[in-house]
Amino acid sequence: MNIDLFRISWLKALYRSRWFPLLPQIFTFICFIFLVYGGLGVTTNDMNFAKTLRNTNLSNLIVWSYWWPVIIIVAVLAGRHWCTICPMELVTSLMGKVGLKRKPGRFLKSGWVMTLFFGTILLLGIHTFAIHRIPERMAIYMLTLFGISIFAGLIWEKRTFCTHICPVGHLLGLYSLLSFIEWRVKSQKTCVECKTKDCVAKGRHYNLTARSCTSNLYPAKIKDNRKCILCAQCLTLCPKDNLTLRLRRPLSDFFSDLKLSTAEIGFIVIISGFVVYEILSEGDVNKALLLAFPVTITNLLGITGIWTGTINAIILFIIFPFLFLVIFSSLRKTISGEKFKDSMTAIALAVLPVMGGMHLLKALLKTISRIPYWTYAFNDTQGIETAEALIDGTLHLDEAIPQTINPFLTGIAVLLPIVGFGLSAWVITGRKKESLSMRAITMAAALFYSGLFEVSIIVWWLI
Ligand code: SF4
Ligand code: SF4
Repeated sequence: MNIDLFRISWLKALYRSRWFPLLPQIFTFICFIFLVYGGLGVTTNDMNFAKTLRNTNLSNLIVWSYWWPVIIIVAVLAGRHWCTICPMELVTSLMGKVGLKRKPGRFLKSGWVMTLFFGTILLLGIHTFAIHRIPERMAIYMLTLFGISIFAGLIWEKRTFCTHICPVGHLLGLYSLLSFIEWRVKSQKTCVECKTKDCVAKGRHYNLTARSCTSNLYPAKIKDNRKCILCAQCLTLCPKDNLTLRLRRPLSDFFSDLKLSTAEIGFIVIISGFVVYEILSEGDVNKALLLAFPVTITNLLGITGIWTGTINAIILFIIFPFLFLVIFSSLRKTISGEKFKDSMTAIALAVLPVMGGMHLLKALLKTISRIPYWTYAFNDTQGIETAEALIDGTLHLDEAIPQTINPFLTGIAVLLPIVGFGLSAWVITGRKKESLSMRAITMAAALFYSGLFEVSIIVWWLI
C-alpha cells in the first residue's frame, strides 16, 4: 500500500531544491541562538521555584514543552524529519569541510557513545541537575551540544556527529521504524545500471548543497528507516530521479529481518524505563507507587539532595527495565536455544511500538498542558516575575483550553497502549518462522509493558 508522496508536485520540488534543507537549517540555527540567549542568566537554586520557572521562561518553555515533544511526535509518525533541519547537522558538516576527516573508530561506530551520552543527559543532566527546569542550565546544555558538534566535525569525516554521537540519534532512529514515511529508491534495477552513482560520490561529500550521502548509506540498500535523516541530498544529485518519499503502512520495517545493535538494545532499556516514569508520574498515586522502592533505597543509603534523583533514575531507567528485558529474554532463549542477543532484540522490538506510542502521549500531554503559559511568556520572556506571581497567588492561569482538550486526551491515553500492543501483536504473530511458545513469550512481554500503562492510566483517570 505504498503511496508515492512525490506525486504531489510542490512537495517534490521542495525536496529537490538545492536550498533544501539548507534554508530551513539556517532558520533553525537562528532559532537555536535565540533560545540559548533567552536561557542565559536566568537561574535559581530553589528547586520549587524552578518547577514554575521552567514554564514561564520563554526559551525553556519552547525547548522542553514544544520543540522536544514535537521532535518525538514527528519521529514516531514521520521519521527523522527533525534531523533533516537540525542546525547541528549544518554546523558539523561545515566544520567537516575544513576538519581532519578521520574515520570514526570501532567504539564510536558501536553506537554506545550515543546510548551513554543520552543516559548521562537523562541521569545527570535532567534527574540530577535539572537542565529541563533551570533555563541557564538548559542554555549551557545546548551550547555543549553545539560545541561537541563543532569538535566532531573538525575531527571526524562526514556527519559523524549525527551518525555516531548525537544523544538523540538512537531515539529518533528507533522511533522512525514506527513511522508512516520512508525514503527509498523507486527502482533497484535503475541503481544497478547507474554508472555514475552520484548519490555516493566521494568528491561530493563536503558540498554545501547537493552533497552525496554523508550518513554512509547507499540509497538502493536502505532496508529500514533508522539511519536515513531524509536530507534529500541524494535526490538532488540523482540523474535518474530515482528517489522518493513514500507513505507506507506503519511498522513496515518490523517485517524485515530487523537486527538491533547491543547499544540500541541498551538504549531501549533506558527509554522504556524513562517512558514508564514519564507517564506514571502524571498521577500522584502511580508516582508514589513507582517511587516507593527507589525512595526506600535512597533512605537506606542515606542519600539526600539532588543525588536522590540520580539514584531514582538509575533504578527506574536502568535496573527495572533491564530486569524486565533479561527475564523475558531468558525465557525466550531457554525454550528456543537462540542467541541471547536475538532474544533481547525480539523483546526490545516487541515493546518499541508501545514505548513510542506512550512517548507520543507524553509529548501531547506536555504541549497541551503548557498552553496557558503562552499568555505571559512573551511579556516576561525571562519568566521570573510571572513565576513569582504564580507562586504567591497574584496570578492565575486560564486553564480553559487544556480543560476542553483533556477529555479527548484521556480517550487517546486509554487507547494508545491498546493500539501499541495491537501493533506489537500484529508483528509477533506474523513471525511464522518462530515457534508458538517463542511468540507467546514475546507477546507476554508486550502485554505486560502495555498493561502497565493501561492500568496506571485507568487508576489516574479514576482517582
Ligand atoms: S540513487 Fe540515483 S545516483 Fe544513486 S545509484 Fe541509484 S540511480 Fe544512481
Ligand atoms: S540516503 Fe539520501 S536522504 Fe538519506 S541520509 Fe543519505 S543523502 Fe540523506
